[in-house]
Amino acid sequence: MNATDPQTGSRPPASRDVNFDAIVIGAGISGLFQLHCLRDRLGMNVRVFEAGTGVGGTWYWNRYPGARFDSESYSYAYSFSQELLDEWDWSEHFAGQPETERYLNHVADKFDLRRSISFSSRVKSAHWREATRSWTITLENGSQHSCRFLVTAVGPLSAPTYPRVEGIDSFGGEAYHTGLWPKHAVTFDGKRVAVIGTGASGVQAITEIAKTAKTLTVFQRRPNWCKPLHNRPISKKEMKELRAWYPEMFRICSSTSSCFLHTPDTRKTFDLTPEEREAFWEKQYQTPGFSMWVGGFQDMMTDRAANDEVSRFVARKIRERVRDPKVAELLVPKDHGFGTRRVPQESGYYEVFNQPNVKLVSIFDDPIKRITRTGIELADSSIEFDMIVYATGFDAVTGSLDRIDIRGIGGEKLKDKWRGSLETFFGMLVKGFPNLFMVLGPHAALGNVPRSIEYNVLWITDLLAYMLALGHTYANPTQAGVDAWTESVMKAAEGLLSSEVDSWMTGINQNVEGKQTRIIARYSGSAPEFRAKADAVAAGGYRELELD
Ligand code: NAP
Repeated sequence: MNATDPQTGSRPPASRDVNFDAIVIGAGISGLFQLHCLRDRLGMNVRVFEAGTGVGGTWYWNRYPGARFDSESYSYAYSFSQELLDEWDWSEHFAGQPETERYLNHVADKFDLRRSISFSSRVKSAHWREATRSWTITLENGSQHSCRFLVTAVGPLSAPTYPRVEGIDSFGGEAYHTGLWPKHAVTFDGKRVAVIGTGASGVQAITEIAKTAKTLTVFQRRPNWCKPLHNRPISKKEMKELRAWYPEMFRICSSTSSCFLHTPDTRKTFDLTPEEREAFWEKQYQTPGFSMWVGGFQDMMTDRAANDEVSRFVARKIRERVRDPKVAELLVPKDHGFGTRRVPQESGYYEVFNQPNVKLVSIFDDPIKRITRTGIELADSSIEFDMIVYATGFDAVTGSLDRIDIRGIGGEKLKDKWRGSLETFFGMLVKGFPNLFMVLGPHAALGNVPRSIEYNVLWITDLLAYMLALGHTYANPTQAGVDAWTESVMKAAEGLLSSEVDSWMTGINQNVEGKQTRIIARYSGSAPEFRAKADAVAAGGYRELELD
């Protein structure tokens, strides 16, 4: 690395061939923090390329009506800056998208991050150049940049996918994807609206759209188990108390399996009488957030009979809340147990189906045949719409990386490498792709995402600091290191009911070619275990990496 430029505070290019010490792709929660760490802590010359016109990543793109946190706002916030923690007040326990986007803009301003970010800059390709030990990045506008180190901060859920159905481009009305929601105001008043998809995004959007749409038709393929969010405002007094609790709160987050504030109950389901179980679940159902999902009995995710019990409880709640028994039955999942897919948090979702303007269509039984200029055609009927909302999810985990033409040693394509089997080193490095670091790549621990992001960003920063100190310009994981981590990932997924269910977490997306077979896409062991293993790599002097 070269000396710091006194005028700009950043370092000049390391050589004529390398413009930047590091390039970061994405200015979401990961990219902003990674930029801050590399530029302001390590003094690197860093450039961030961001496809959007503003910061925020997920919270920039997913501005659909009803979008909000499913984890407690304060547990989701950055923890790295005491000043930031001291000055930012959350207005709700589960903040809405506009507030989160404001928060991330505040972070960008506070740490003067914008000057290092190029907006409206979608990265098209990233090619490794062995001769210069650098990455060449090409943007969609054709401009090229090079760097020694490349960090992808593209997020595991940022490549939106649409149904593979005939006529999708022929629709003449308004059409939106929840993950690509426009900045301009979208109104539903007096409109006949269709929503396709009932995952976490669909559930939030449906609840909001139902309030004003003339008619809302929900196209559901497979229902999910949803649980009440129980959001409420945070008073000034409560915010003060929360702030005093922050140190303990972050300690709790760092001790729990998925970095949420909720911990599994240490008891097993059948250790309790049916009445005791019922009382426990009733309390959890009334508790805000993911309590019921990640705070359930310890055998809920591994013992089918135990899982059946909690599923029966939630099914009964759905049947109690939805008046029409036929509709209620359609809303009760039959193909997977509670918690084996991501549990959407809802705020009156089931009651929406009691409204006279809302209709549920099960496309599991009656699939969409085609989209026409005026609406949606099923096997025996067609319905006209003014608007179609696609809440059809993402090409998760690998999708956002697959959409960039990433080539490593010898021109090997990352997408091809992963076609056979998914292999990484802690979800952060890939063998054959030197100096490429991923924040929350495949096989990383996810959970309460910002907690995992902060850990991963700091791990990458520490590794780069170590390399700089020793004058290393090259990092590539060894096959032994990759094999050991891959084995840990596979072991962690063994025996989990969630491994036997189709979801984005098992790599399934029927709308993407080649994603019809279940894989293990993320590390499903505990976050403390993930951190302990990754810490051990650092403490051991990164023996699992070829450093040079
Ligand atoms: P998702 O969970 O993958 O849900 C996609 C939905 O679209 C599913 O109901 C799926 O049905 C349906 N679908 C997909 N293709 C279809 C097709 N061709 N025809 C009909 N239906 C189709 O996606 P998501 O709701 O966007 O959520 C993804 C993840 O983002 C969540 O699991 C969560 O981790 C995150 N998220 C978080 C928040 C939050 O924290 N507040 C909010 C939203 C999302 P099938 O189930 O049958 O495939």
